[in-house]
Amino acid sequence: MAFYVTTPIYYVNAEPHLGHAYTTIAADVLARHMRQRGEEVFFLTGTDEHGEPVTQAAEKLGITPRELGDRNAVHFRELAAKVNATNDFFIRTTDPEHEAVVAEVVTRIHDNGHVYEGTYEGWYCPRCADFKTDSELVDGNKCPIHLIVLEREKEDNWFFRLSAFQEPLERLYTERSDFVVPEIRFNEALSFIKGGLRDLSLSRARLKWGVPVPWDGSQVIYVWIDALLNYYSALSYARHGEDLTGRFWPASVHLIGKDILKFHAVIWPALLMAAEIDVPERVGIHGYLLMGEHKMSKSLGNVIDPFQVVDVYGEDALRFYVLREVRFGHDGEVSPEGFEQRYTSELANEYGNLASRTLAMIGRYRDGLVPKAEAATDLAVHFDGLAEQVCAELDRVELTLALDAVWQRVKRLNAYVQDEQPWKLAKDAGGAEQLDSVLYGLAEGLRVVSVLLLPYMPAAAERLLAALGAGERSLDSARFGAVGGGARIGEPGQLFPRVEPPEASAA
Ligand SMILES: [Zn+2]
Repeated sequence: MAFYVTTPIYYVNAEPHLGHAYTTIAADVLARHMRQRGEEVFFLTGTDEHGEPVTQAAEKLGITPRELGDRNAVHFRELAAKVNATNDFFIRTTDPEHEAVVAEVVTRIHDNGHVYEGTYEGWYCPRCADFKTDSELVDGNKCPIHLIVLEREKEDNWFFRLSAFQEPLERLYTERSDFVVPEIRFNEALSFIKGGLRDLSLSRARLKWGVPVPWDGSQVIYVWIDALLNYYSALSYARHGEDLTGRFWPASVHLIGKDILKFHAVIWPALLMAAEIDVPERVGIHGYLLMGEHKMSKSLGNVIDPFQVVDVYGEDALRFYVLREVRFGHDGEVSPEGFEQRYTSELANEYGNLASRTLAMIGRYRDGLVPKAEAATDLAVHFDGLAEQVCAELDRVELTLALDAVWQRVKRLNAYVQDEQPWKLAKDAGGAEQLDSVLYGLAEGLRVVSVLLLPYMPAAAERLLAALGAGERSLDSARFGAVGGGARIGEPGQLFPRVEPPEASAA
């Protein structure tokens, strides 16, 4: 089986921030999880580099749009590496191979009779690179996103007959109730479709920075259509000398933020239908990580900057926090203090301390060998069906629910240590068999949760698995009791060490 996951391509007129890191982390969790399931995986991210906003930002800096793209694409590549993303390719819409596919697909849509010439008039936001309808405007005639005053603009350009796809789109939504997840976003997209679809400009006349319309050199392809096609074009040239389209298309999941729902859940499938290309299996929508009013945190100040968090706490902590704190698919508050609290209470205490205590007790009481013993049934039973539950949640793009299912077992193991008090058993000559069972159960439980946590916290979980002497990383091995005792344990070091706030004078 093949699994193809994408992030949106990030717009190069701005610097990467937590929102970009969030989607990339989420996509990476799915990619790593599917590899554990033995699927053949392709994971794509990249940058969107055409359009008026890039031209304007470049002009301000006195450089060409190409130079701005080159400069900022580097930062987005760095962000992916910084959060330990395992993307297979990094696409840029200025890649000549991508531009060639855009021209080819748009020509196909044209030749299939879905393109016509017309005049567009509307409220144009240069920063959105999009026209706004009267009902979208706020405060009279301002962009609802950028709150800048918009001008009424008129131009001749090429139109995509989106209205002709209303019925096929409604059918798609009827046949595939999980085409968009979560359900609230499915309903939002469907009601947008049912509200009636207006045709869409496929090209822009005034702009030069884009892919030329193949049959009309005076126009360039509208930046959104150019951008959406990245998901399809990348497969044709990502691997040198090989076309991966047959293997990985249609995409399994496009992960996006809710602000670009309309483009991905309505326009994108219609474009693909018009070009006679299969539509993706799923569009997974996440909400916003909100940063409201907060007290300053000692080490992170008052914003969560992904680069800074990783420098201070490591990438695993950031990955864990953003997926743990806010249910994926929903909006929620994040804050530096909230981050530090979860880091200490959950990562350092519940997981890190559990690991170091368990390894220390096996070292001290059993000479560093995990006892060959039976785990107590009342412990083992908590792990029944866990791997299946994680798979089912991740199939629905419920990244937070899957993580929570695993974390409940981490908490369970902590409670088990408190209940059994192995240090007391060690002092009791008659407690040897019971101690074997407890230590084995703890080691095995830690092994199972760590295999399931690998996609979320790849470095820390890997270090612990190595210290437990565990060889397997596949999802099949995430079954309690799959590994008997006998492994020689090692020393993982502190998985989540205490972090000292930086010197105040540094600011
Ligand atoms: Zn705008």
